[in-house]
Amino acid sequence: MGDGPVDPRRRVPRTDTLLADPVLAAATVTLGREQVKAIVSRAQDRARRGELHPDEVRDAAVVALPTPGPRVVLNATGVVLHTNLGRAPLSPAAVAAVVAAAGHTDVELDLATGRRARRGRGALDALAAAVPDAGAVHVVNNGAAALVLAATALAAGREIVVSRGELVEIGDGFRLPDLLESTGARLREVGTTNRTTVADYAAALGPQTGFVLKVHPSNFRVTGFTSAVGVRQLATLGVPVVADIGSGLLGADPLLPDEPDAASTLRAGAALVTASGDKLLGGPQAGLLLGDAELIDRLRRHPLARALRVDKLTLAALTATLHQPGTPTRAALHADPGVLRERVERLRDRLGADGRKAEVVPAVAVVGGGGAPGVELDSWALSLPERYAAPLRTGEPPVLGRVVRGRLLLDLRCVPADADEAVRQAVLRVPGND
Ligand SMILES: *Cc1c(COP(=O)(O)O)cnc(C)c1O
Repeated sequence: MGDGPVDPRRRVPRTDTLLADPVLAAATVTLGREQVKAIVSRAQDRARRGELHPDEVRDAAVVALPTPGPRVVLNATGVVLHTNLGRAPLSPAAVAAVVAAAGHTDVELDLATGRRARRGRGALDALAAAVPDAGAVHVVNNGAAALVLAATALAAGREIVVSRGELVEIGDGFRLPDLLESTGARLREVGTTNRTTVADYAAALGPQTGFVLKVHPSNFRVTGFTSAVGVRQLATLGVPVVADIGSGLLGADPLLPDEPDAASTLRAGAALVTASGDKLLGGPQAGLLLGDAELIDRLRRHPLARALRVDKLTLAALTATLHQPGTPTRAALHADPGVLRERVERLRDRLGADGRKAEVVPAVAVVGGGGAPGVELDSWALSLPERYAAPLRTGEPPVLGRVVRGRLLLDLRCVPADADEAVRQAVLRVPGND
């Protein structure tokens, strides 16, 4: 070797340096230090054999980590309910309830009598109390499960009458018509994509009708020459109306005037309302069923109900969310743009002091997650060069923004205020000044 350059194999990063990397350090928490050390040591060996450049050892170790469970990320996308990011983050109260319920619980036991009790009655009581218009309530795994249970128990072998304008795809290729027909119910489609009248529904009713289904088109809007029939009118037709409101708003929210809520929908005459727990309600993934006590009882007793029952952790989180509805979702929806702007400006100033040039730009946040498709929320974002997007997304914690015309926008609306410092540090970890 003589006077040649230092053999790169001698520059292989040390184990303790590698284990201090934020991603690898975080992995030791879930995988254990020994497993991560073994992965690091394999990557070092490859560099010593000359298969890797020493600078590639860290990345090779990260790539070799087993696929982790869901990782905590910072949502700077400006999408309040991002389905790919797990929709609603739980409130601190709900998180504490989940942790507390992780051991043995009285989920199906009455401690006073020592007898078996109705499963999850705390959550059911809280839901019933939150929507007094409901004669009874039931909870299943998600919104889709709530629809499947209603369709199976009330319309298998019979017909569900539904407008062609409401046969929606709820995401990732899952379509409501397919879901409903998988239960053995037949769909009786009425009207057209843009217009359906009450006469269309009336003409389709008969002894074969299980129920009329009203679906809130929660992830798109049809505008122009349109007409749809509301629950109030459908309820006069003499058959049960099942309303899938989607978002899980229990009462009206003035910020979201076009978003149906459970209480108003029941008062308008719906026999049953179905909704998700992890959208605007801001709770865990769950399917809520509210309405006529006799119908709810039929759903509860149907054999399929057992396959859709919710776990104790979900029940714990749902109960806490219903008792303390000040959720992060609500905070993000109602965040004051002036306050958001100040947070972004402070972040820009502090990054500037460290030589990072960022800008403060107005942004538009959305509800997302199949909710309030027309609503735009005024917001503020930190604007960085696009080259920050990938390293921030793959860092620890991952920070997700939105790339718009060559810039990465970090919208702070859905970032908890106490995480601004974590965003700053993540930006500083991206190598290079601008
Ligand atoms: C989100 C949504 C669903 C599906 O609910 P999940 O909880 O995701 O299963 C069904 N219908 C409507 C109208 C929705 O918005």
